[in-house]
Amino acid sequence: MSVDTTSAVAAAIWFPYDATPEYLVTAWALVTYGRLLEIMRDADSGVSLVELRVFSRQEHIDVPRWADALGYRELRRHELGDDYHAGFSIIVPLMETPIYLPYLEQRVLDAGGSFNHTDRLETVDDLPNDDFSVVVNCSGYGAHDLVPDNDVEGHRGQIVVVSEVGRAWAMVCEEPPTYVIPRQDGYVLGGVNSISWSRDIDSASTAAILERCRREGLSIDCAAEESPQLVGIRPYRRGGVRVESTHTPNGRLLIHNYGHGGCGLSLSWGCAHKVYQLAEGSSVSA
Ligand SMILES: Cc1cc2nc3c(=O)[nH]c(=O)nc-3n(C[C@H](O)[C@H](O)[C@H](O)COP(=O)(O)OP(=O)(O)OC[C@H]3O[C@@H](n4cnc5c(N)ncnc54)[C@H](O)[C@@H]3O)c2cc1C
Repeated sequence: MSVDTTSAVAAAIWFPYDATPEYLVTAWALVTYGRLLEIMRDADSGVSLVELRVFSRQEHIDVPRWADALGYRELRRHELGDDYHAGFSIIVPLMETPIYLPYLEQRVLDAGGSFNHTDRLETVDDLPNDDFSVVVNCSGYGAHDLVPDNDVEGHRGQIVVVSEVGRAWAMVCEEPPTYVIPRQDGYVLGGVNSISWSRDIDSASTAAILERCRREGLSIDCAAEESPQLVGIRPYRRGGVRVESTHTPNGRLLIHNYGHGGCGLSLSWGCAHKVYQLAEGSSVSA
C-alpha cells in the first residue's frame, strides 16, 4: 500500500467527520462499524475498540445520529475539565493504519487479487486494455484531475506522532480541530483542516498542535523535530461523497467511489458494499 496515500496518514479512528450528505455518511459509517467488529476478531488486523471522548466548548453538544444509534454516555463535569462545557463518550473501532492497510492488502492477495502500481493516469481511459469490464475509481483527492471533478476540494491535514501522553482514551474537539489517538506505535496528535493541496510539512502547525495538546493537560516531553510528522489531503467533495456508476467511453462500467473527506476509513466498508451492489446490478459482468 503506497505510503503517499491519504489513507496511510489517517490514524484512523471511526469518526464520521468532514463529509456529506449526513444521512448517507451515517448509514455507510454504521455498516463499516459492524464490519470492523467482525474484522477485529483477527488479532493481526490492527483493529480494536477504544473509548472516544468528544468535547465541545459550547454549553450544548449536538449528539450525532450515529452516536444515538450506537449508544453513548454524557461526560461528567469533572471529565470536561476547565476548557469544555459539554461532551460525550462512545466506544468506537480504531484502525491502526500501519497494521490495517497491509492486512487489507494481504486479504486482496489471498483472495486472488493483485496490485499493479502503474504511473499516474491522466484519464480513466488510460487503463491498460486487459480483460476486465468494471473500473472502480477510488482515486481520493486525485479525482479532481482524473475525472475531472472540480467539486473535489483538498482539505489539508497534518499530524505529529509522539511516544507518550499519559492518557489511554482518544479525544476529539472540532473547535479548533484537536485530536489525540492512542496507537501501539505512539499517540497521533492533530489537527489541521485547511483548504489546501500542499503536502509540505508546516513546522508552525506542528508547534501549534503540540501547544494545544499540552494545554489539554497531556504530558508530552519530546520536541517537535524529534517526532514523526505527516501531511495528508482529505478528499472532500462539495455536494457529497460520490458513489455512482457510469460508463467509460470504451464501454466499461465505471463506478466512482471518492470524496470521503475526513472519514474515508470510517465509511470504507459501507461504500464498498454500495459499489458491489452497483456492479452486481449492472448488465456488465463483474
Ligand atoms: C491527517 C488526517 C487524519 C485522518 N484521520 C482519519 C480518521 O481518523 N478516520 C477516518 O476515517 N479518516 C481519516 N482521515 C480521512 C481519510 O484518510 C480519507 O478519507 C481516506 O484516506 C481517503 O481514502 P481514498 O482511498 O479515497 O484516498 P487515498 O488513500 O489518497 O488513495 C487514493 C489512491 O488513488 C491513487 N491515485 C489518485 N489519482 C491517481 C491518478 N491520476 N492515477 C493513478 N492513481 C491515482 C493514489 O495514488 C492513491 O493510491 C484522515 C485524513 C487526514 C489527512
